[in-house]
Amino acid sequence: MDTPGNLFVVAAPSGAGKSSLVKALLELDSHLAVSISHTTRPPRGQEVEGREYHFIEEPTFRDMVMEGAFFEWAEVHGNLYGTSRIAIEQRLQDGEDVVLEIDWQGALQIKRLFPNAVLIFILPPSWDELLQRLQRRGEDPPPVIETRMANARLEVAQAKHFDYVVINAVFETALFDLKAIVHAQRLKYSRLRRSKAAVFRALHLD
Ligand code: 5GP
Repeated sequence: MDTPGNLFVVAAPSGAGKSSLVKALLELDSHLAVSISHTTRPPRGQEVEGREYHFIEEPTFRDMVMEGAFFEWAEVHGNLYGTSRIAIEQRLQDGEDVVLEIDWQGALQIKRLFPNAVLIFILPPSWDELLQRLQRRGEDPPPVIETRMANARLEVAQAKHFDYVVINAVFETALFDLKAIVHAQRLKYSRLRRSKAAVFRALHLD
């Protein structure tokens, strides 16, 4: 599927700083909208229905899968997550740029459907640093941290299938890299020909 809007997909192991980076990117870039996923996981802390996620029961999720309501879906850490067609299709058709903050399995499904999607993997600078970040967060007991570290090793092995890699050692540097990727995508000839059609016409470019 080729759409006027750009589709960016960001994946990372937990603790790599994906959510903070995407949040900062969205605050800086008013042309970028984040997709709200559906999940069977219950809300955490301050999460609000329709803001972080659409929280639904598993039978409803399964029905949606059967109806073809999702562009991609996956089981992550025992819960189901999916990107609905409604969440992104119209926006992309309207020429808006959309960012998906999803896991690597979903990212690879999206790439098959949207070959022009830009896949970005966020890496921690080292295993030690990732462990320290998970411990500092103080959200999880040690066995859960161990599971997250084991999962992280499997997830990071998927980075080679992504278009770009951002190493989040220094937050500001990683944010700069992320912005650069978004910007470079918008400057591609094929993309600019759509977004700056009038200029291209005036220059008699096809
Ligand atoms: P959390 O429950 O911590 O918000 O998210 C757990 C994992 O699920 C994260 O890696 C997150 O990016 C991923 N995730 C969130 N939404 C989706 C989605 O719609 N599809 C897929 N495949 N993964 C998702």
